[in-house]
Amino acid sequence: MADAGIDEGTDDTPADPAVGTGSADLRVDHLTGATTVVVGSRQGRPNLPASGCPFCVGGLEAPEPYEVRSFPNRWPALGDERCEVVLYTPDHDQTFWGLGPDGAERVVRLWADRTRMLGARDDVDYVLVFENRGPEVGATIAHPHGQIYAYDRIPPVPLRSLVDGVLRPDSVPDDLVVARRGDWLAWVPEAATWPYEIRIAPVAPVGALTDPDCDLCGLAEVLVDVLARLDQRFDAPMPYMLWIHQRPTDGGDWPGARVCVFITPLLRAAGTPRFVAAAELGAGIFFNPVVPSVAAAELRALRGVPT
Ligand SMILES: [Zn+2]
Repeated sequence: MADAGIDEGTDDTPADPAVGTGSADLRVDHLTGATTVVVGSRQGRPNLPASGCPFCVGGLEAPEPYEVRSFPNRWPALGDERCEVVLYTPDHDQTFWGLGPDGAERVVRLWADRTRMLGARDDVDYVLVFENRGPEVGATIAHPHGQIYAYDRIPPVPLRSLVDGVLRPDSVPDDLVVARRGDWLAWVPEAATWPYEIRIAPVAPVGALTDPDCDLCGLAEVLVDVLARLDQRFDAPMPYMLWIHQRPTDGGDWPGARVCVFITPLLRAAGTPRFVAAAELGAGIFFNPVVPSVAAAELRALRGVPT
C-alpha cells in the first residue's frame, strides 16, 4: 500500500479512534458509537514500488544519509499535516532490538521531539506515537519505521487512560513482570486481551515523553529488551502493534496522565495468529488462550537482549 511514505495506518488500526482530524470527514455510528474517518483518498495510494524501498538512503523519502528521520506522511489518514513517518535506522533489515540501546535511544528521543513540536500546535490536542510491525498487521514496507498522528482532540481510548489510578505499575504482582530497566517496568496486564500483551511504564508517575523526569535512556533499554524477547518467543519476528499514551497537549493539567507503551503481539503460538472472532466483536467479551502469568514467565525466561 505505500510507495512513498506510507503504508499501514488506519486500515489496520482497531476501530477506535480516529477522532481529531481537523478538516477530515469524521463520522460516528449511532449504533456502536464507533468513530470512523472516511479517507477515500487513501484507497488510491500505490503499492510498494518495484523501484525499491522509499525509506532506504537514496529512496524517495530519504534522499540524504540519516540515523533517524521523520517526515510528513505522503498518504495521510488525517489532513493538515497531522501524520508523520519516523524512520528508525537506515538499515533496511534491522530490528528495533538490533538497534541496541544507543540506536533505540535515538528513536525514543525523536518520538519525544516530534511530540513536543506537534503538541505545540494550537490545533493539536493529542499526539499518538505508534508502530505496526510486520505484514500480518498491515505494514507493507519492511524497513523499520513507526508513525505519529496529531489529533485535534483527545481520542476516546487515551481519554479513558487519563483517569487517575487505572494504570498502576507500582502494584503489578511479580508473576506478571517481564523486565525492569531504569525507571521502567514491563509487564503483562492481568486482564490481557492478547496473548503476550505487554505494557511498559515508569514505576513512578511520569506524564509524557517530553517531561524532564522521563527516563528516555531507560525506555530505549526496556524496549530493546522486551522486543528482543518477543522475537525470541517463537524464534521469528513477532508481528505487533505498538502505541504510546501520554499527556494531552491541549494545555490541561491532566494529573492522571501516565506515559505508557502498549504492545499487542499477534501470535499465540509459532506461526499461529490470535484472531479476534465473531463472538468477541459481537459480545464485547474477549477470550485469551494464554494465561497472563504464564506469558510473563515465558518471556522472563528468555534472554532479553541476545549477545
Ligand atoms: Zn529500506
